[in-house]
Order: sequence, then C-alpha cells, then structure tokens
Amino acid sequence: MRYSKYLLPTLKEIPSEAEVPSHQLMLRAGMIRKLTSGIYSYLPLGLRSIRKVEGIIREEMNRAGAIEVLLPIVLPAELWQETHRWEEYGKELLRFKDRHNRDYCMGPTQEEVITDIARREIRSYRQMPINLFQIQTKFRDEIRPRFGVMRAREFIMKDGYSFDVDEKNADESYQKMYDAYSRVFARCGLKFKVVEAESGLIGGHFSHEFMVLAETGEEIIVSCTHCSYAANIEKAEFKRSDRTSRSEDPNLFKPLQKVRTPNQRTVEEVTQFLSVSPKELVKTLIFETDKGPIAALVRGDHEINEKKLKAILGTENLQLASEETVEEITHAPKGFAGPLGLSIPVLADLDIQSMVNFVTGGNQKDAHLLHVNIGRDFHISQFVDLRKFTQGDRCPLCGGETRWDKGIEVGHIFKLGTKYSKAMGAAYLDEQGKERIIVMGTYGIGVGRTVAAAIEQSYDEHGIIFPMPIAPFQVLILPVNMKIDLIRETAEELYRILLDEGVEVLLDDREETPGVKFKDADLIGIPLKLTLGERNLNKGLVEIKKRRTGEVLLIKKEEAVSGIREMIRMEIEG
Ligand SMILES: [Zn+2]
Repeated sequence: MRYSKYLLPTLKEIPSEAEVPSHQLMLRAGMIRKLTSGIYSYLPLGLRSIRKVEGIIREEMNRAGAIEVLLPIVLPAELWQETHRWEEYGKELLRFKDRHNRDYCMGPTQEEVITDIARREIRSYRQMPINLFQIQTKFRDEIRPRFGVMRAREFIMKDGYSFDVDEKNADESYQKMYDAYSRVFARCGLKFKVVEAESGLIGGHFSHEFMVLAETGEEIIVSCTHCSYAANIEKAEFKRSDRTSRSEDPNLFKPLQKVRTPNQRTVEEVTQFLSVSPKELVKTLIFETDKGPIAALVRGDHEINEKKLKAILGTENLQLASEETVEEITHAPKGFAGPLGLSIPVLADLDIQSMVNFVTGGNQKDAHLLHVNIGRDFHISQFVDLRKFTQGDRCPLCGGETRWDKGIEVGHIFKLGTKYSKAMGAAYLDEQGKERIIVMGTYGIGVGRTVAAAIEQSYDEHGIIFPMPIAPFQVLILPVNMKIDLIRETAEELYRILLDEGVEVLLDDREETPGVKFKDADLIGIPLKLTLGERNLNKGLVEIKKRRTGEVLLIKKEEAVSGIREMIRMEIEG
C-alpha cells in the first residue's frame, strides 16, 4: 500500500473526547472515527487490524472443529418472548417496529436465533457435538458508552454456541473452547490471564473470562502466587480466618454506650473521630428488594458484594435504599444506621461472628454506639458470606498469598446448560429413540475490544506499539526524501519485492518532511520500519528499526528482504 494513495488521516492533537490511551491513539492513528455516541467507523488501518484478529479467531475455531455461520442482526420479538428475554432484557435491547407494526430488536447476542436453528436442524444424537460460530456486528444500547470501541454500543463480536447430548459432553466442548480461546489470545501477541467468572468452588468451573493485562484495565483480577487460582475480584473467593466463633464469656462484654458523633457519617470519619480501627466497626447497609427491605452488616474495612447478596436472597432486584427509606427504617439520617432495634431481617457477614464490643450506628442523628455485642444487644437473622475480596485475603484453594492485576475482558466462555434449549424446545432423539434436551455452551470474543486492549497493553508516548500478529502492516518503508533518485528507486524496488514475497508493507511515498514521516511512523506503530537515507544507501546499507524495542540494525540492501522475513517469522511464531 502507498501512503500517498491511502486513507490514513493522523491527528497531532489528543482528541478531547477520548479518555483512555487506546481511544486517543486509535483516533490519532486514523484507525477509527466517531459517527455518534458509541458508534464508530473503522478506517482502513483500523479495519486491517480487525481483520487480523478475525483471521486468527477463524483459524483457531476451524482447528477446534467449530463451523462458521452468519446470523441476522434484526431479530423478531417472538423469539425473544419464548425465552422471556424480551421482557427481562433492560433498555440495552434496542427495540423497534417495522412498517407492519411488528416488534423487532437489534441482536445484542444470538442465543435465541441459534437455538431456533438447533431445534429445527438437530434431530439425532449423531449430529452432536456441534459448535457454530459467527463474527458479526452486535448492538447494545449502553447508557454510557465510552472508551471508543472498548465500550461501544455497536461492536464486532465473535459469538459461538456448542450443542451436546449431555453435561459430560458439554464439559468437553467447553474445554475445547477454553483451549482455543487461550490460543487465540496468545497468537494475537497478548499478555492475558484466564479467570473464573462465576464461583469456581460451588458448582464447578462454568464460566471463565479472558483478561488482557493492562494498567488501564477496569477489571481487577485476583490471582494466587502459589497455585493456578485466578478470579475476577467481583467473584473471587477467599480463605476465611479460622476464627469464626467468639468467646461467650459475658465478662468480656463491656457495657453498651451511646456517644455523640456530630456529622460523622462515613467509616473513615467515625473511626477517626472515635479513635478506633475500621476493623472494630460494623457497617449497616439497608437494601430495598422485591421481597422487602433488609439490613446487611459487614466489617468497617470490608465491602458488600451485591452479587453474593442477590444470590443469598434469590433476587436480581436489589438496590441500596433511598435516603427516605433509611430514615423510615432506622429513624435516623443516612450514616447513622445500626442493627439494634430493627424490625427487618438482618444478615451479617461471617467475619462478624467473632467480633465483640464493636461500634455501630446509633439509629439516631449524630449518635453511634460503642461496645455492641450480638446476642446481648440484637439478633442476626443469618450469618452468610457477604463481602468482597479484600487486599490481604488469601487464596481459597491453597491459602497462599494473592496478587492483584488490572485487566480488560476480551473473551468470555459460559456453560449455559439447558436454559435456552428447554425454553425453546430444542430436543434430540438419543440412541434409544428417547427425546432429550440439548445441552448448550456460549462463547464470545470482543473483536474490536481485543484490538483496543492490545493498544492499552502496548504503547508509549509516541504512539501505538502493535504486536506483529495483529499489526495493520508488518513493515513500513520510510524513504527520507522521495526526490532523491537513489532513495526513491530503492524504495520502489524493495516495496515491489516485499509485496511479491507476501509481506504486508506500507510505503510512505509522501513528499513530507522526514520529521513528519517519523512521527507518523511511531504513532501508527508498525512493528518494523525500514528507513532509506542517502548516507546509508551510498554504502549499500539500509536501516531496520524495531518499534517495540527501539533496536536498530544496519544491514546490506540485498539482505534487507530476507532479514525482514526472518524477523516477521520470529515475531509471529514467538
Ligand atoms: Zn492458591
């Protein structure tokens, strides 16, 4: 490709709309342009990178025996009503009517469509296992799209679905995708971690996320420094301290005492004011649920895990109570709630079981209580696991020390079981001719997000540093001055030979200053830069610079092509 004939509009300034490096750099490198909120066009350079990721996904899916299909984007409401997702899926589902006043939605995910195909086309156990995938545009009407293609409303996704005769076979299909996804991200040249996305201890490993490690990642990954345990912090389990019961000696209990704490509401304020550690305080949070309000207690230095709370209560419908509800229930403004005298269920985290003489809110404006004790002062409806993983918590499997990393979720695999096949009647006949329900799995990769995550993982102050396997071009030829015959002719010759050899090459044949060309080269991050200058060429030499390491090699012009091919091979094969 010739730069002068290409559409590669680089920007000097950082666009003000872009918050994260990948978004800034994709705009500046001319990879994407925003059409409207959360909706982007891929310009040629961006699309080349997207196609690279897609190519790797296709190869690995084919290798794993998955078969490509292409499903529609516009989906009829009837299908979604069968699984009740038409009602359950919130406002992220973009619904609209056609000219006949029929309801449709833009597909945010395609379980219904693929299950419809399965129930029509799969009749016998002999047709399974089968795994169908597609690479296609999806739409989710995110309330706050941001970070460019990282969290866009319209996005390119690989989604795949496996169909099996039973759970055991479904587990094997799942493992195949686990392995294939691991190969995809390794082949993209990414540093990543696979983490448990659902509780791995209860009910087996049914869901994993593939996280690209990056300082700017929004997800926190907890992993064990001794064994292979790794999980999203939202779902991470931890080893509980052995001390779960307390001494029942009543002499230990100090007399309950009410203290004035004017305007001290947060844990930080109260503990500083009273000169106690957050570990000596119990937080009382009031939640509203569709089953009525509840109080949840955790230690002052801990956070409630709402996912766990929802699972315990068996409801998806749960939110922190409004100021008015808190006042109604505790008779005190927010910040002074405590568990004493409440007439609603009180759930407490397991770590509270061993606490004595702790601090709580006083259920009265500007008041807290000291030396509160369970049993003597109030009762707990249920002790449960309520809290999030905290720094210092230990591995749930081996008790080892844990570390935290930041990551970007690029892939997710999930064992669905019979959720969709049962709702939609996708069944087959087994060897005995008996009808059985198909067991499914679902597997997704954010294609655009993978490119963005690769940039988040690898850039510097000058621009993008593409991993070779997903770089838009492998080599950039940079003739410092196209007006000098020797330079121009050598550039044209090497360009032609590299093209003939199947190397993906961009020739910067613009009549720009060397400064502009070098700046753009660093910005767009092509892994190898072949610089042609007069002084070197007079000695029969060319310069090859590696974008990632900055390493510079001066080699004979005749050896340039073989040298470049070898460097590409090394970087792609690792
Ligand atoms: Zn461990």
